[in-house]
Amino acid sequence: MADKLAEATLASGKRIPYVITDNPPRGGMKYTYFAPDKSYVVQFFNDPEDAADPNIQSRIEAIISRYNPTLPESKGGAKGNDERIAAYFAGRFCWPTGIVVDPEFGIVCPTYPKSFFFDESSSPVINLKGKDKKSNWFTSKNRRYLAPHELGDLRSMMQMSLLLARSIRRLHQAGLAHSDLSNNNVLIDPKTGNCVVIDIDSLVVPGLYPPEVAGTRGYIAPEVLESLNLDMNDPNRISPSSYTDLHALGVLIYEYLFLRHPLIGPKIYDMDSAENDDYLALGSKATFIENPDDTSNRPKDLYVTIKDLGPILEKLFLRTFVDGLHNPEYRPTAMEWERGLVKTWDLLHHCSNPSCEQKWFVLYDSSVTKCPYCGHRIAEKEIVRLKLKQEIRGHEGQWRDYAEVDVVNNTPLFKWHFQSSVFPDEKADKTLQAYICRHNGEWFLINRNADGLMSPEGNSVPSGQAIKLYDGAVFRMYRGERGLLAEISITKVR
Ligand SMILES: [Zn+2]
Repeated sequence: MADKLAEATLASGKRIPYVITDNPPRGGMKYTYFAPDKSYVVQFFNDPEDAADPNIQSRIEAIISRYNPTLPESKGGAKGNDERIAAYFAGRFCWPTGIVVDPEFGIVCPTYPKSFFFDESSSPVINLKGKDKKSNWFTSKNRRYLAPHELGDLRSMMQMSLLLARSIRRLHQAGLAHSDLSNNNVLIDPKTGNCVVIDIDSLVVPGLYPPEVAGTRGYIAPEVLESLNLDMNDPNRISPSSYTDLHALGVLIYEYLFLRHPLIGPKIYDMDSAENDDYLALGSKATFIENPDDTSNRPKDLYVTIKDLGPILEKLFLRTFVDGLHNPEYRPTAMEWERGLVKTWDLLHHCSNPSCEQKWFVLYDSSVTKCPYCGHRIAEKEIVRLKLKQEIRGHEGQWRDYAEVDVVNNTPLFKWHFQSSVFPDEKADKTLQAYICRHNGEWFLINRNADGLMSPEGNSVPSGQAIKLYDGAVFRMYRGERGLLAEISITKVR
């Protein structure tokens, strides 16, 4: 049958064209037709009963309107959402934009941006052109099929992890849960460090009947997998929620940063049944491959570990896969991941070995002298750190560690490096405030736009002026409320 142009009527009354093809792409719940110009897709349900289900219909209506972070509040989107934030999240989610009422119930979604599809140059050995960039292409052994320019590096993987944590934090902030977060429902582009969350229509919406999805193998939370065989109405059956999203989020971040699965190791849980072995390995008996107290699932060739990403991420991984693996309430929230990744981002150090595959590593303290990925020694003669401290509330003049920045020539500084009340989220002002540079063997902090910067001697440093930095220099980044204190440390590399 030749392709046939058809027309869908939306709930808004608008009519839009789409192209009916033989064997349209089919997922678990829906099948997909494309717009003539491929700028959007029209999706219908595989099962007519789902399409007619009033619970599904009212859930999708809520997702498209009052829970929609990609639409400004002024246009019927999420409360408090302005144009700028809506545009930001429109790039982070492939969020449905309309409901089809004729010829039958369905949804309209934007097409994924082009960068989430492979092209002819993506693999020298297999034809990937037009396939979407599901994360297992990058985090499993399939990596070997990809051209080097597709693979990204630790920095781009960390950026993707941060963007994903931010997107999930935004969902959870609204009381939503994704319910089926997995390698299939997050497309990634390590080349640019971007990711997009797709399949939004199975979100858990507060107060509405939840979707009947359990999750995807490898990402489904152990407590959900364990209770899958119970009846739908059994009170002990555990449904997807923000807690189960947090398990999946941890798995995805671990996969992006380590290119391996956190629970799939050498341990055999059932010698006689591969199916039961898998069920135990990801369910009731699941063991983190890097569990410090139980090494029964630890692979022999574990060279780079959570320790190499510094103490902030190490703790978050331990909370996710040790404390919280079988105790969902101990799992770190998406916001904790977002904050931990932002702080670790400032510690990324470029590896001076031009053939290093990861190109970056986390220089979490000045005693680290080698790249953990390639073993190459740090080329710089000294390690410079900007150690930021926060005043303890109610204890004037008492400071505690807040964050650290690994400083190189031209390290940029933003508002969140000056004030503890500013967080680099989607709302943050990203204007450059100052930068640190090296000139004739000496280090300087150059003020570009920062108000309230003080010198170590206690003088005001207006924009356009500089502070000379030396080991042990202490100064205020911002004189006002919740301003951070900076301490410079310069350590010779031995
Ligand atoms: Zn290296």
